[in-house]
Amino acid sequence: MTVTYEEALQKYEPVFGLETHVELGTLTKMFCGCITTFGAEPNTHTCPVCLGLPGSLPVVNERAIEYTIKIGLALNCSIAAWCRFARKNYFYPDMPKNFQISQYDEPLCTDGYLDVAVGGKTVRVGIERVHLEEDTGKSLHVGGATGRIQGAEYSLVDYNRAGIPLVEIVTKPVPGTRFLAPEVAKAYVTELRDVLRSLDVSDVRMEEGSMRCDVNTSISLIGSATWGTRTETKNVNSLRSVERAVRSEIERQAWVLDEGGRVIQETRHFHEDTGVTTSGRSKEEAQDYRYFPEPDLVPVAPDADWVESIRASLPELPSARRARLIESWSLSELDFEALRNARALDAVEATVAAGASPADARKWWLSELARRANDSGTEVSELPITPADVARVAALVAAGTLNDQLARQVIEAVLDGEGTPDEVVAARSLAVVSDDSALLAAIDEAIAANQDVVAKIRDGRVQAAGVLVGAVMKATRGKADAARVKDLVLERLA
Ligand SMILES: [Zn+2]
Repeated sequence: MTVTYEEALQKYEPVFGLETHVELGTLTKMFCGCITTFGAEPNTHTCPVCLGLPGSLPVVNERAIEYTIKIGLALNCSIAAWCRFARKNYFYPDMPKNFQISQYDEPLCTDGYLDVAVGGKTVRVGIERVHLEEDTGKSLHVGGATGRIQGAEYSLVDYNRAGIPLVEIVTKPVPGTRFLAPEVAKAYVTELRDVLRSLDVSDVRMEEGSMRCDVNTSISLIGSATWGTRTETKNVNSLRSVERAVRSEIERQAWVLDEGGRVIQETRHFHEDTGVTTSGRSKEEAQDYRYFPEPDLVPVAPDADWVESIRASLPELPSARRARLIESWSLSELDFEALRNARALDAVEATVAAGASPADARKWWLSELARRANDSGTEVSELPITPADVARVAALVAAGTLNDQLARQVIEAVLDGEGTPDEVVAARSLAVVSDDSALLAAIDEAIAANQDVVAKIRDGRVQAAGVLVGAVMKATRGKADAARVKDLVLERLA
């Protein structure tokens, strides 16, 4: 491939769109009473309905409708007063009924938007629709090297997942983001995941497949009146892959067009290891699925009062939280993104609630603690230190009992299980030496040992005092207040 991303963007305008599937966290499946727990023995959570046995009839899970309305409202959508499920007909071994109950031309939620922040800028991503359907089972291809069906000796099917409620959230095409397209796509999925998490409707674990994205990408010559042919990259299963998939398709399509070729409308697979997509199958058209209204289910007509009560029950959404924290903590958008990217928002908010200043709380969680979490491959929220502990350390610094260096030692010790900050300070005698007479003794020693420096200071070169301060800090093993030491040094030599 010979076209770089920068070259492609000099010439072409990208447009992308995302279809995100989210498994809802209901206790039971969409149309039967089977439980939905992840990771059970294969085919233990099944019944005649989700196995598609003759004569079984589906019944809609009310909680799944409620969750979908919640999602629609959080995404600023209109909620249909009346809608129907539809049959989407296709054959695949992981679909026991040979059709999937989905929604087609009558989705539950339509025409909304989600604002996402990228590099301090806000991009509004339009939401085309949010609809409800059932998940398929899972095929396991055994005996091949790759786990794919090609080369496998035989395949097994697990129907535990068949019938789990699945919400599909489809964006409108997003034009005009140019170089930022991959980043905006990633930011959208991140924001969407945060919204869904705040709604508590799904565990949104991309690595377990409870949230999966298909990424549509097209490019056209800059200034062209029409958009190019789009490809659909399937099952992109991490935030980073969303960004890479868009970027790689832009580069590939630019190369195809530059070579005089034509982009084919098709499904493509993203490969995590190489970061490129390869051709899958040519894309089906809607008519291939022979949709028709599901005859075994009554229409869904959510009562307006019920919708309003769901709206009233919505929690604070991430965008509102962002606005509130930026305002009350005097943050820039970039400061906020740094906190969110470090997944430290909850910890910092709890630390502020425990009495620390927002600046102190941010400082500790983004420096020492973020580094420690990174080193141990965990989330900051999983570190063995509480927001109250961090607030206490900040208070000890503010009171002059600890300096920053000692505070770092205290935090390390708390993380290592040595007790609360106060217990660590007591056990290790870590408090700052505030007794001037003890400091003066150390200062006098430093002065005696550094006569050349003393001469410089007396000459008016006050910054040379740093050497003496350093000597005192060393002599007290970091337990002195450096600012106080400097004042005392200058007083002594005045
Ligand atoms: Zn079932």
